[in-house]
Amino acid sequence: MSEQEPSIFSKIVSREIPADIVLETERVIAFRDIQPQAPIHVLVVPKTGEYATVSELAAGDPELLAHVVGVAQDIANELCEGQFRLVFNSGEKAGQTVFHVHAHVLGGDLAEGSLA
Ligand code: 5GP
Repeated sequence: MSEQEPSIFSKIVSREIPADIVLETERVIAFRDIQPQAPIHVLVVPKTGEYATVSELAAGDPELLAHVVGVAQDIANELCEGQFRLVFNSGEKAGQTVFHVHAHVLGGDLAEGSLA
């Protein structure tokens, strides 16, 4: 990933393209999805573009993966009463379109509806 063209998310990290940022730490940035699939839909993205999928991240930097999950909880605490769905699409056949690992934090009232 790192030797290829920077991903769209790397361009958000470097502020080359704008995003509605809700939280940032030293290692991740979180911003609202441009095409929300739920009342609250935030992406949590490691700043490093070196991991394409959650499988690569889990193998390469489990601490960073744990940080992504912790940040997802912080966002849910702030925006949706601490209740959320956490989704990683891993691989093209699973619907992944951006190959810079990211977690989808989905919240709002999902009990009877929207599935991302
Ligand atoms: P994936 O399908 O790879 O798991 O999810 C990629 C997500 O990124 C999609 O939900 C899509 O709407 C979102 N997305 C793609 N391009 C942009 C963008 O430029 N800005 C923001 N905020 N979201 C984006």
